[in-house]
Order: sequence, then structure tokens, then C-alpha cells
Amino acid sequence: MANDSRTLLRMRAPLREPFEVPYHDIGAELGDPVVALVGGIHGNELNGVFVLSRLASYLERVASGQMQGQRLLGRVVVIPAVNIFGLNNCSRRWPFDGTDINRMFPGYDQGETTQRIANAVVETTRRAHYRVDIHSSNLDFEELPQVRLYDPTEDEREAARQMRLPAVIERRPDKVFTATLGHAWRSYGGVNLVIQAGRAGSLQLEHCSTVFRGLVDFMAQVGVVDGFELGEPDYDRHEFSVDQTVPLVSEDAGFFVSNHQVGAWVETGMPIGNVFDPFDGAERAVVRAPASGLLSGIRRQPLLYQGDLIARVQLRSGLSPRSPVSNPGQ
Ligand SMILES: [Zn+2]
Repeated sequence: MANDSRTLLRMRAPLREPFEVPYHDIGAELGDPVVALVGGIHGNELNGVFVLSRLASYLERVASGQMQGQRLLGRVVVIPAVNIFGLNNCSRRWPFDGTDINRMFPGYDQGETTQRIANAVVETTRRAHYRVDIHSSNLDFEELPQVRLYDPTEDEREAARQMRLPAVIERRPDKVFTATLGHAWRSYGGVNLVIQAGRAGSLQLEHCSTVFRGLVDFMAQVGVVDGFELGEPDYDRHEFSVDQTVPLVSEDAGFFVSNHQVGAWVETGMPIGNVFDPFDGAERAVVRAPASGLLSGIRRQPLLYQGDLIARVQLRSGLSPRSPVSNPGQ
């Protein structure tokens, strides 16, 4: 029976027992980690926590010889949930001081609690060559499972493709990004990826299996797991460069409802939802796609204010030549 549980950080709490942030160190005898995976920096982003806990279970079974024909060839560090107290009450932030752990990187080992946590996460993962941080959107919005790249290296673009998620989307780094784990990892070189999948506050099992599959597939491709071949996923995969993301912000307020799914293709002006008056049920507006392209995110929390984000569309012209679809007219 493999027991690869470790403790990332142990700190005293004001009352009762100290608290610990646990992680898995699988194949520790195989040298420096090849892959480090981090989830639950935000305690309400449950998809990543679920996927990484299941992935750790799978890798431990591979390591202990319980998966016939499969072998573990590389060490993997898995931190399913960084924000352990946030996870207990499904809160994005660290419950005691309200800080957002993904704004505390690179952290400080003599600092406040969340600075120490951030520092311990970096210290535990920095020796890995591939590092992956998994997030969901917030409570209001659902994201198509995607690798997000910020000013990436060519190696990062290649690794993002190897993840075989439905989309790889490049974004311009902003001020917020510089305080995140994804940015802090850069000082150690290697290949650093951020995954976004689904919505916070609940599990979307279809997105979880897409990400799980992508990670296992990635492990096989980078030589961590031997004897495992998944083959091509049954969905199309697309890459989008910077400035090919069109957000749709609401002009109306009311109940926003949509039965459109992320990953669908939309045309400019196509209805993608409606806004209703929450009292008399009258239709206030038809919400239309702002551009032709891939619907990569959509609002799921129906109470809509003016200025709220309703959807994101990835422009078709952003598709790389690798994609089977192209529309140079857009
Ligand atoms: Zn997050």
C-alpha cells in the first residue's frame, strides 16, 4: 500500500490543534519531480480539487503496481487543495483574514499566514520541470476547460497542446497575474501552465473528466507514466492567440437565462440567452453573440446587473493553422 502523503506546511492555530497543508509526493525515489500539480488555491474551486485528488489516487495505484501494464517513471507532486480552510466552508479566500492566496505569491516564509502558505507552495513545487495550477472561474461564470497562457515560451505552448484540452487561450499578462503562482514559478524556469475549468461552488463532472483525461494524457506524453495510451479526445481542440477574446458585458439587468453550452460555436448576432424581468416575467432583452467564434465562457448565475460579464467568445480568426476550422473573413 503506497503512502505518499506529506505535509507542505504545519502552522499553529489560535486555538486547538495546529493545521497542516497536505500533499502527495508520488515516486519520490525517482529524483526531482517531473510534474507538480496545484489545485484549490481558491477554496471554492472544486473541480481542480476533485480532479487532483482522483489523479493522486490513480498515480499511487500506478506506483504500487496495481495498474496492470502501467509503470510510474517520474516523480509527481500533487497538492489537491492549498486553501484547506477555504475548502471546508467553500470560500474562495483564506477564511481568517480574507486574503486571496493567489495574490500573495511568491510569498514570504516569515510573513503572514497566507504569505507563508504561498512560499511553501513555491518551495514544494519549484524543482518540478512542468508545473500546473488549476482554477475554475468564480461562482457566476462557467469556463470551457482550457489552458491559459500569459506571454508563454515555445515550450509552454507545446506543453499546452499536449494537455489536449478543448482550448488553449493566450492572454496578455495583467497586474493581477504578477502576484499569482503561475507568475512566481517563472523565476525557476521550466514549463508553467494555468488551467481554467468550469465554475466555482460545485462540480461539473464533464469538465472534471476532460481535465482528468488531459492530465493523464499529458503524464503519458512527458514520460511520467509508461504503458498508457489514451488516443485523441473526441472533441475538437483549438488555439487562440492574444486579443482574440471578445467579452460580452450586460447592458440590461434581470434574470439572465441561457441553455447554450460552453464549447459551442456561435455566429455574430445569434441569440445566446434572454433577460427576463424577475417579477412579471416579461422578456427585457435577447442577448446576442458579440462575434463569431467559440463560446469559451458563459454566465450561470442568473441575477444580472448592468456591466456584468455574460459571455466570452474566442474569435475564429484567432485559430491557429493547426485547427481544422478557419475563417479568414472574420
Ligand atoms: Zn482560482
